[in-house]
Amino acid sequence: MTQVLDGFAALDLHPNILAAVIATGYEEPSAIQLQAIPVILAGHDMIGQAQTGTGKTAAFALPILSRIDVSKRQPQALILAPTRELALQVATAFETYAKQMPGLNVIAVYGGAPMGPQLKAIRNGAQVVVATPGRLVDHLRRDEKVLSTIQHLVLDEADEMLKLGFMDDLEVIFKAMPETRQTVLFSATLPHSIRTIAEKHLRDPKHVRIETKTQTVTAIEQAHLLVHADQKHAAVLRLLEVEEFDALIAFVRTKQATLDLAAVLEARGYKAAALNGDIAQNQRERVIESLKDGRLDIVVATDVAARGLDVPRITHVMNVDMPYDPESYVHRIGRTGRAGRTGRALLLVTPRERRMLQVIERVTGQKVSEVRLPDGQQVLDARIKKLTSSLAPLVADAEASHGELLDRLTAEIGCSPRALAAALLRKATNGQALTLAEVEREQPLVPTSAPRERSERSSERSDRGDSRERRAPVPLAEGRARCRTALGARDGIAAKNLLGAILNEGGLVREAIGRIQVRESFSLVELPEDGLERLLSKLKDTRVGGKPLKLRRYRED
Ligand code: ADP
Ligand code: MG
Repeated sequence: MTQVLDGFAALDLHPNILAAVIATGYEEPSAIQLQAIPVILAGHDMIGQAQTGTGKTAAFALPILSRIDVSKRQPQALILAPTRELALQVATAFETYAKQMPGLNVIAVYGGAPMGPQLKAIRNGAQVVVATPGRLVDHLRRDEKVLSTIQHLVLDEADEMLKLGFMDDLEVIFKAMPETRQTVLFSATLPHSIRTIAEKHLRDPKHVRIETKTQTVTAIEQAHLLVHADQKHAAVLRLLEVEEFDALIAFVRTKQATLDLAAVLEARGYKAAALNGDIAQNQRERVIESLKDGRLDIVVATDVAARGLDVPRITHVMNVDMPYDPESYVHRIGRTGRAGRTGRALLLVTPRERRMLQVIERVTGQKVSEVRLPDGQQVLDARIKKLTSSLAPLVADAEASHGELLDRLTAEIGCSPRALAAALLRKATNGQALTLAEVEREQPLVPTSAPRERSERSSERSDRGDSRERRAPVPLAEGRARCRTALGARDGIAAKNLLGAILNEGGLVREAIGRIQVRESFSLVELPEDGLERLLSKLKDTRVGGKPLKLRRYRED
């Protein structure tokens, strides 16, 4: 076993869980994992505060899985997540980490799927239940005993759950579980409402917090690019076309990702290699030497593998996967800008990771400006610029050495010098696309993501906006459903009337309600998806401005 695995190996996890983690390709625990795993393994209640992307799932999944008794076929751990997507993600993560635990079953329970099979899976002995609160309460209504054997409860993204209006549901769920259970709460922020829950339902909790200290970063130009997770490779290739780098280090999260990206880059003709904890020390040193002397230009590394790497040629750091915390971001980008030179740091950000970007900006006290993906024209210009600068130095003495040959060849072929030069260019550029049409065909545009949540201001604008903007679909935030009422501006209704009625009668908090759009003859309101049916039935008889609200789920198609 390599030395870097000491991190996870030292944590006292169940050997089969440890084996699965190693197989997953994680090289060392993230900060929150390092701190939370021992606390949860020891059975304490815990409050964990850390941002998105810090590795919280494994921080609770690994110790909880280590403590489950597989021989007992009954629910032992319950994980609550705010949305169906997050519940599925957590369930998948549990399955990955439990791959080497035969007999361990995980069930995801969320709204929008039939209840019967979910309940059956729980009764058939799934030891881990991952659920959204709304749907779980529906199950409790049918069978109040479903949670009576739970020994570990995790509230994942607790602040998000409260924002989606799950406070009451959480209370129902707490009551349905044994008081002797262990409770772990994770949240990016700790508003008053979360503290209240913790005081009421956690016993002597330990606090684990990933501190975000201010760090100084100088002489490094920082930029970020919004990109969907499945388009990262395409985005990296495009960026590399236009970035003028000498040597570059690209950071990813897993060993497999180092191999995948290095292969993609090599296939494109870059001198690239992977660097990860599986690579033997002597091979590792060879890679670093090659990067130093220019036999390699790009190294794709994990944080662990790049530790201590100091190569003055590095002009660029590309964060292909988000670092776990601002400290490791600062650490990563510190690989460039050495010896008083300026360096450039690029960060790919997926829509879910935007909050981490804000944290990085706050902690480093610097703006990480947004860049757009270069378009076909920019790629073409960059290619021609490179070609120009590779040919320009040759022009001076090439005529003396090869001028006579040129004369002879044009005479023998019977073509103009221009035709011959063009043929030579084609040969030298090896089929590379060098017209706009070709470049665009070669690299279909990767669209950067549109902002998911519009600001209040833009929703006001679209209320009055032109019909084109009105018809454009506005993306719904995760976990929300759009509902429609036949009440609109012509009924004298304003957004605040709808908001007031829904808050009062629906028992929601303000944050649970998304955009409200009032049109002439109808209005649209965004509400929490989970528990929607119950909410709508609560609002069944609500009247606004004397008229029945009659809110219904709205389907665009
Ligand atoms: P959070 O819940 O804090 O937002 P996640 O648990 O979803 O973060 O983890 C984010 C990503 O990091 C996931 O793709 C996960 O597989 C990966 N990850 C988590 N821990 C590690 C680790 N120790 N090493 C490498 N990758 C990890
Ligand atoms: Mg998470």
